[in-house]
Amino acid sequence: MKKVTLEQLKQLAIYSKDDLRMKAHLVNRDITLYLHWSAGHYGQFFYNYHINVDQDGSVYVSSDDLSELKTHTWRRNFGAIGIALACCYNADISDFGPEPPTKEQIEAIAQIVAVLCEALDLTIDIDHVMTHAEAADLDDYGPATTCECWDLWFLPGTEKGEGSNLIRRKACSYLQNGAG
Ligand SMILES: [Zn+2]
Repeated sequence: MKKVTLEQLKQLAIYSKDDLRMKAHLVNRDITLYLHWSAGHYGQFFYNYHINVDQDGSVYVSSDDLSELKTHTWRRNFGAIGIALACCYNADISDFGPEPPTKEQIEAIAQIVAVLCEALDLTIDIDHVMTHAEAADLDDYGPATTCECWDLWFLPGTEKGEGSNLIRRKACSYLQNGAG
C-alpha cells in the first residue's frame, strides 16, 4: 500500500485512463467508481480495492494502475475502480459498531470521487459513481432484498438510502470549488 496525495491520485487516474476506458467498453459500460466500506478495522487495508481510505482521511493505493482488475463488486469489476473506507467492523444496519465511518473518511471519499471524475471525464451521477449498496440492489443482493451488501446505504447522520447521495453531493461541491 502506498500513501498518496489527491494530486498523485489524479496523475494515476490520467495514466490509467485509456486502459480503464478500453476495459469498460469491452463490457459495454462507462468507467464506474464503486464505493465501499471494508467491514474491517481502521488502518486495515485490502488489495481487492484500488483505493483505501483510513480513519483520518489519508488515502492509500494498492496499485499504480487503476485499470488493474480487482474483485470488489460482483459482476462489475471491468473498467471499474473500487474505493473503500477502512471501517465498519461488526457493523449491522441497526448499529455502525465500534468503528463507524468518520467525518474525515466521508470528506476524503468525496474528494477522491471529485478528483477521479474530473481526471476521467465522468459525470458525478449514479451511473458513474455508485455505492456497493446501489450496485448490490441492481444485482439482487442489496438492502432491497437480501441485504448481503449495504455499503454506504446510509452514513452517520443520514436517512437510510441517502449515503450515496451525500457523497455525490459533496463530490460535486468539491469539483466546483477545487478538490486539490
Ligand atoms: Zn462492498
